[in-house]
Amino acid sequence: MCGIVGFTGTQQAAPVLLEGLKKLEYRGYDSAGVAVMDKDRIAVSKVTGRIASLCEKTGQGKAVPGTTGVGHTRWATHGAPTEENAHPHLSNDGKFAIVHNGIIENYLELREELTGRGYHFESQTDTEVIVHLIEMYYRGSVREALIRTTNRLQGSYALGVICTEEPEKIFAVREASPLILGIGVGENFFASDVTALVSYTRNVIYLEDGEYAELTPDSVRVFDCSGRILDKEISRVTWDVRAAEKGGYAHFMLKEIMEQPGAVKATIEPRLKNGKVVFDELGMTEKDLRSIRKIVITACGSAYYAGCSGKYVLESLCRIPVEVELASELRYSDPLIDSHTLLIVISQSGETADTIAALKEGRERGAKTLAIVNVLGSSIAKLAGMTVYTWAGPEIAVATTKGFTTQLVVLYLLAVYFADLQGLAASVYAQLIASLQALPRQIQQAIDMNPSIPELAGKYHGSSSLFFIGRNTDYAVALEGALKMKEISYLHAEAYAAGELKHGTIALIEEHTPVIALCCNWTIMEKTMNNIVEVKARGAEVLALSFRGNQKILSAADDFLFIPDTDPLFSAVTEIIPLQLLAYYTALENGCDIDKPKNLAKSVTVE
Ligand code: GLU
Repeated sequence: MCGIVGFTGTQQAAPVLLEGLKKLEYRGYDSAGVAVMDKDRIAVSKVTGRIASLCEKTGQGKAVPGTTGVGHTRWATHGAPTEENAHPHLSNDGKFAIVHNGIIENYLELREELTGRGYHFESQTDTEVIVHLIEMYYRGSVREALIRTTNRLQGSYALGVICTEEPEKIFAVREASPLILGIGVGENFFASDVTALVSYTRNVIYLEDGEYAELTPDSVRVFDCSGRILDKEISRVTWDVRAAEKGGYAHFMLKEIMEQPGAVKATIEPRLKNGKVVFDELGMTEKDLRSIRKIVITACGSAYYAGCSGKYVLESLCRIPVEVELASELRYSDPLIDSHTLLIVISQSGETADTIAALKEGRERGAKTLAIVNVLGSSIAKLAGMTVYTWAGPEIAVATTKGFTTQLVVLYLLAVYFADLQGLAASVYAQLIASLQALPRQIQQAIDMNPSIPELAGKYHGSSSLFFIGRNTDYAVALEGALKMKEISYLHAEAYAAGELKHGTIALIEEHTPVIALCCNWTIMEKTMNNIVEVKARGAEVLALSFRGNQKILSAADDFLFIPDTDPLFSAVTEIIPLQLLAYYTALENGCDIDKPKNLAKSVTVE
């Protein structure tokens, strides 16, 4: 996934690059490096591990002179996270240094060709072929060498390049990996994400696929692949810099959990006008909706689980069949998608590589496409026919919380909107709107009404396995709850449809195995209660999650998590709150790096 950053100006480059990399560290953090132009040569500093080690090695960047440079924080795809595989990579003649985010799919054949031509490789990365190609094609113009190089590449890349022959310039190009240019005064930047830029400038240019940029301290020029100069729009970033800081919380994750009432409110409120759900951004008519025979939701990770939960709500309110598919599966499945399909893709970053591919697949088959994304101007937002933003603000912790809950409420809003287009009784509609409006307050209550979570985490954190069970939407929430537990506390956690345990998995239940039972659906409460009795008979410790005031559950379980009285149709969004907190405090007990869990990265821009 990686974060890349570039700077050219009059102040020392390395401290600026390191500051930017710190903001991008959520994208990858197994090794890092900077390359800075020092008079007529390029000086490279690299470390394995975190940006903090690179700061230490370079005296916060002060030990690296020079005012032009590029930096990288890596999430290894090709080659172990060692110092030699860390970026930036240098050309054999020492004239070029590059940083890369993405995967070069044809790197093996290119490596063979370049080795045959006498180029020497220092690393196992796919990236290194790029810098040798640039050297091979360089005839006095970096831009031309870059164009010839990228013509040879298959795969995805955001590239940052510096060259000793044009020492004040930084070069950038992208194809299917994000890259944004930052426009300053007497200094200019590029980065994988605006969070790395906002403390220096709020004026940005979103680079598109196939575009090349050349930046000096005083100029920014963007070209297409034929070298034609493009007139790019400068956008202004309006969000508050503090949104990307911890603001007194121990971790971004805890801060983001606590921000959920506000994030959900910000997502719902602009879409409610005069007691109706309004989606100005969709422009969909009743006729359009009638032409839809099925909805396919596709996504990865937590966004996929948001889709699983949304399926129940959409089917229940709209009676349109909904399929939920993992994007990484859908893209290679020859899917049954046509012009009568509404393909909904969900991605917090809007850059998830598999989801982009699934979206392209859907478009090619003529589907109507609707994206639910958080990051403005992201690749998915641009590719989809319709885009609905979740107004969650920047999400920094790798494990999603407010990204997930805002995706859920967008799905709820869409379900109510579509149901209304089909015709809803006024009283039913009014009740649904009231239920949606109540959600921010109910999320706050779900945060407040579970003070025992740190204590429960103390009880369960040493378990070798946890099981999460539930039915229907409870099951969808169980999947996300188990994922949260796995990704940040590193405990083995599995989610099961409650009725499915007895078809094998119940063999794993032993004395004191924790089973977290989600019982927030009154109509099938008894059924899940039966499953609680079954696992308790085999020695399980049951932690039940239900509505406060559910007397039945009090006699059935050992420990409890509560949610307020939420409309059962929308209860997933309150149910996940105590499970996020449980995962957080369990990870804290286990001494884990909560905001940057091992082996993960936030924006999964590789397939
Ligand atoms: N493929 C490159 C490497 O492994 C970049 C990885 C990425 O962007 O995730 O070094």
